[in-house]
Amino acid sequence: MLRALQRETVAAGAVLVAVSKTKPVADILEAWESGQRVFGENYVQELAQKQPLLPEDIAWHFIGHLQRNKVKFIAPFVSMIHGADSVALLEEISRQAVKHNRIIDCLLQIRIAKEETKFGLPVDEAETMLASEQVRELPGIRVSGMMGMATLTEDRSQIREEFRGLSDFFRRMQKKHPQLQWLSMGMTSDYRIALEEGSNMVRIGSAIFGDR
Ligand SMILES: *Cc1c(COP(=O)(O)O)cnc(C)c1O
Repeated sequence: MLRALQRETVAAGAVLVAVSKTKPVADILEAWESGQRVFGENYVQELAQKQPLLPEDIAWHFIGHLQRNKVKFIAPFVSMIHGADSVALLEEISRQAVKHNRIIDCLLQIRIAKEETKFGLPVDEAETMLASEQVRELPGIRVSGMMGMATLTEDRSQIREEFRGLSDFFRRMQKKHPQLQWLSMGMTSDYRIALEEGSNMVRIGSAIFGDR
């Protein structure tokens, strides 16, 4: 399944983030041996434990909800953080990145689902953040895209509508802020819809590693 997904995402011009949360190091190594280099995790402690045991050429993406006080544990090595949803969090990522003399890519998490429980910024707040000098001048980070999760539903047309809304917003912001490069949307159950709606980064776990 991994190889088929690698081919499919390459053909679509998208980056495949292999979501390895809860999976053992051996499973990650096996995927690495199939050429996979980008992996996503969403628990800080688990990521900090696995990272030193795995090849150095892995680009680790943090895809979960990140608490400010935990940024320091992943800042020395993390390549991209998908869930940036406040100025305070961006400031802390910046502070830790500078400390380690690194640049960390950050994606603004945008709230697109109709569910109440999802994290993320309303589009108007994201727009304000992108325009803010305070954010633009933060050293050590690059706000290089957006991430969104659709509602957990069987209704494919609702999922498509939510992805399309984010995609439209992303394209509109990209005109003003050309550093916005990545649109991270789509997981195992909805990545095909996401790709059709313009995603260029999909986060896929169970289709690669099996159920959790
Ligand atoms: C777990 C997770 C995924 C992958 O989910 P699958 O359904 O296993 O593909 C993608 N994105 C986020 C934010 C996740 O937490």
